[in-house]
Amino acid sequence: MLTMIPKQARERLKDIYPQDAISHQAEDLVAYGFDAAAIAPESAPEMVAFPTETGQISATLKLANEFGFPVTARGAGTGAVGAAVPVHKGLALVMTRMNRILEIDRDNLTALVEPGVVTGKLQEEVEKLGLFYPPDPSSLHVSTLGGNVAMGSGGPRAVKYGVTRDYVLGLEVVFADGSIVATGAQTMKSVVGYDLTRLMVGSEGTLGIVTRIRLRLIPKPETVMTATASFAQVSQAARAVAAITSARIIPCALELMDRGSVEAVEKLLQAGLPAASLLLIETDGPKEQASMEMSRIEGILREHGAEGVKTASTRKDRDLLWKARRSMSQATSRMAPNKINEDVTVPRSRIPDLISRLEALSEKTGAPIISFGHAGDGNMHVNILTDKRDEKRYAQALKTVEDVFRITLELGGTLSGEHGIGLAKAKYIESEIGERGVEIIRAIKKLFDPNNILNPGKIIPE
Ligand SMILES: Cc1cc2nc3c(=O)[nH]c(=O)nc-3n(C[C@H](O)[C@H](O)[C@H](O)COP(=O)(O)OP(=O)(O)OC[C@H]3O[C@@H](n4cnc5c(N)ncnc54)[C@H](O)[C@@H]3O)c2cc1C
Repeated sequence: MLTMIPKQARERLKDIYPQDAISHQAEDLVAYGFDAAAIAPESAPEMVAFPTETGQISATLKLANEFGFPVTARGAGTGAVGAAVPVHKGLALVMTRMNRILEIDRDNLTALVEPGVVTGKLQEEVEKLGLFYPPDPSSLHVSTLGGNVAMGSGGPRAVKYGVTRDYVLGLEVVFADGSIVATGAQTMKSVVGYDLTRLMVGSEGTLGIVTRIRLRLIPKPETVMTATASFAQVSQAARAVAAITSARIIPCALELMDRGSVEAVEKLLQAGLPAASLLLIETDGPKEQASMEMSRIEGILREHGAEGVKTASTRKDRDLLWKARRSMSQATSRMAPNKINEDVTVPRSRIPDLISRLEALSEKTGAPIISFGHAGDGNMHVNILTDKRDEKRYAQALKTVEDVFRITLELGGTLSGEHGIGLAKAKYIESEIGERGVEIIRAIKKLFDPNNILNPGKIIPE
């Protein structure tokens, strides 16, 4: 049974943390009570702690177990499903002060980091050494590596390079009883027992707190080529995406933005994008290979009705295109008082079916839907524009979410490609993994965290 943080535990927390690393000021409680999910409820924690050492976290979890109060870890709060929202109050454990890059091992191509390191910061540092850390959520200038690990995050480059999970070699984790365990290894492979590292990735702070991360790096690709293609119809763009994959070309990024999302970002940035549906494509690697792949892709784009194919010739042009793409979430948020953002994923060949069924759904229900995303790996961010103040319209939008999920599963897809389950999708998880799947997740949670102190209320419905 979870409780509020009792007075005695508050006093003991003050012994664990220096004065400037613990707070119950109203402004902190408000600031750590929500994340980037539009449909998750806000819920302020009772206290906030900013650990700088693993030992503090271990002592905190022992205390939480003794008194039965909840602890919710938090990185930058950019999560899109309410995973960092402390719905049962308790303590918010803000990991952003554990932000050191401890080692970049140039001989073994690995990095050891603390969880509060900002994703883009690690990328910058390794690239200075000719190395590359591919996972690149569009939030990379803000999100933390600990958050990326906890959510199993992806990004545009996942189409070629895979997601965060594919780069995590090992972790240091503090489990609910305060024990500190090293999972995985610093070697490129290891099969010693069950794969606790993979279990932790995507566990959304419900099984343990990640305090160190050993990541695999790869050599930095020699060149990158970037192009955009505009289409009168989003269905043409979707067919071009499927055709690129079936032609056995794996670009480094293959992003689709429908006309609504392009218009939204134009309003925000005036980036000079055409009023059309767009594909943003990158190839990388040795110069000859990148340019050969790009010219094959251009041929496919034209065959599928691309009206204009434009190559970014300068770094500035490329940066502007990516700025536009990375601003999509923010830009589409401005198109209505509220939006519900889903990140459904289908087998790559089914992207055209997904797009046409979403168009039909929007027409049938009248709920405006704007879609953009990592189409190259089948992952689309489907944004349903709505207004919470208008009860009828909001109910319709929530019903539309269910329809989007049904369509996704019918197409052989999955409810989340990268944003996770958190609060927002907990009630739908059974529709994908079944009753027995949910039972097994519950049993794993119980084993790791018998008193349910770690981020309660997430992933599985209560
Ligand atoms: C504009 C925008 C673009 C985005 N683009 C993408 C994208 O392209 N791809 C993608 O995958 N996601 C994307 N996201 C979602 C989000 O950025 C990712 O889920 C990200 O990994 C969250 O990191 P964070 O540091 O903000 O974590 P938070 O939101 O603070 O926390 C997320 C979860 O991680 C847990 N957690 C945090 N740190 C730890 C830790 N050290 N130990 C254990 N648990 C921990 C929290 O309890 C919570 O459950 C986007 C979000 C925004 C706002």
